[in-house]
Amino acid sequence: MNVTDEAMSFADLALRPELLRALGDLGYEEPTPIQREAIPPLLEGRDLLGQAATGTGKTAAFALPVLQRMSEREPESGPVALILVPTRELAVQVSEAMHRYGKDMGARVLPIYGGQPIGRQLRALERGVDVVVATPGRALDHIGRGTLSMSGLRMVVLDEADEMLDMGFADDIETILQDTPEDRQTVLFSATMPPRIDGMARRHLTDPVRIKIEHEQATTGESPRVRQSAYIVSRSHKPAALGRVLDVESPAAAIVFCRTRDEVDSLTETLNGRGYRAEALHGGMGQEQRDRVMGRLRTGTADLLVATDVAARGLDIEQLTHVINYDVPSAPESYVHRIGRVGRAGREGVAITLAEPREHRMLKTIERVTRSRIEIEKVPTIADLLARRLELTRAAIHESILEDDDLDRFRVVVETLADEFDVMEVALAAVKLAHESTGAAADEEEIPEIALSPTRGRRDGAGRDGGGRDAGPREERRGRGPSRGGMARLFVGAGRSARIRPQDLVGAIAGETRVSGRDIGAIEIADRFSLVEVPEAAVQEVIDALRRTTIKGRKVTIRRDRDASY
Ligand code: AMP
Repeated sequence: MNVTDEAMSFADLALRPELLRALGDLGYEEPTPIQREAIPPLLEGRDLLGQAATGTGKTAAFALPVLQRMSEREPESGPVALILVPTRELAVQVSEAMHRYGKDMGARVLPIYGGQPIGRQLRALERGVDVVVATPGRALDHIGRGTLSMSGLRMVVLDEADEMLDMGFADDIETILQDTPEDRQTVLFSATMPPRIDGMARRHLTDPVRIKIEHEQATTGESPRVRQSAYIVSRSHKPAALGRVLDVESPAAAIVFCRTRDEVDSLTETLNGRGYRAEALHGGMGQEQRDRVMGRLRTGTADLLVATDVAARGLDIEQLTHVINYDVPSAPESYVHRIGRVGRAGREGVAITLAEPREHRMLKTIERVTRSRIEIEKVPTIADLLARRLELTRAAIHESILEDDDLDRFRVVVETLADEFDVMEVALAAVKLAHESTGAAADEEEIPEIALSPTRGRRDGAGRDGGGRDAGPREERRGRGPSRGGMARLFVGAGRSARIRPQDLVGAIAGETRVSGRDIGAIEIADRFSLVEVPEAAVQEVIDALRRTTIKGRKVTIRRDRDASY
């Protein structure tokens, strides 16, 4: 993929005005590289094989062409597109994205997945839908019942195909594809391209366009000296984590990159509300406004610039010390562009990326393509923050002793107090007052640490989509599976009598944490409780996440299984 055509806008992609309006309203300023490459051939009706992970903007890359296709066909001829995804969380996420993009086109998008009452899905299908986003097992259920009409399908999308194969859905997918019209358009996205995916592509895709977001970075000239690190944090903790990082790093001037205009505006507001001096810069602003913002940064009235890639293009800010990626950039090229703004003229710059657990893979891709190391660091704890603030107070006092020549004015205060107290005590009280006057309050909330994923083991192919049809045998297989090394067993205080099935647990864990479906080990469902194996490294994250969420609409007890013998 190439950054030379970076001036391309969504309008250049021949998308319908309703779609362009929706993208504008969402604050998207320009297509991501995968969208630039995938949308034109998809609009022409070509099949496509794309290697892309979460965080690249792949959902919109297929969702926008699907919506455009929808508008071109006869209404009421059944669903125009079927999108197959590995988990119910992804089904919901993709449906929501399609709703957002297709809001002005009246797109009727229905997620169908195991675990949801089938009656509701049947009624919705009867009323008529344009796009179905389904997990394979449940899609097959509906096809078997004759409730999901395939004859009007123009497009089939296989999203996260490698995950679907790992979850044991290969046969289901083959069966589904055999039932779809010959002349359909087929799109396959996968984060990795193992031979099995290649085989699937050869069987079901016709002369596909191939795209891949990994292009080796040509190293031109001297690369900037940049200390690169990343923090893995959940979305809800991002603003707090950013604040923590800014406090510990105390940058002289930093630029914080966001994906959309809306994110720029809301993050600027949050930062200013927390006492930082931040200015927003995005493509929706006029030249005069931009000049004003840049002026404030140059004169030091502001020290943080929150910007989209588009708005920051071409900016050259002399005093910049830090680049912070509030989200993982959508392609290695934009990462390189962003961090190239610091570390110039022989000075060392700092680049920090906040990544959500599911964007971890994208981070790895960036590392590989840019041939640089991004150190995953722990989000500073409250204790780190307090230590850092004390250090700043110490440094300020140190400087005052060395530099101030009018300290003598205060001698009378110290001397009178010294009659009554030890000088050390006087000093301690004075330091406390000085420290507190810097506004260093300790009212912060701890940000949970997210451990990194262990090596991904391949599973036994047990799917867990939860079509009633196949839950039984798969549950059996999972239940008897041997426990694997590096795994911990969790006790979940709900079982068969609460109608909990393995897929509910997998869905809850994979949906709420960075642990993917295939990292989950054996699951045993007893009458009143269940046991589930998760990677030891992620055990606390899973416990915290499951305690926050509900399983089948209930809050349940979650703890490490006391009987665990490994
Ligand atoms: P995905 O890789 O599809 O999971 O998308 C990652 C995130 O990027 C989602 O939050 C999208 O809303 C967002 N996104 C997708 N395309 C764009 C774009 N062109 N500009 C800004 N944000 C985008």
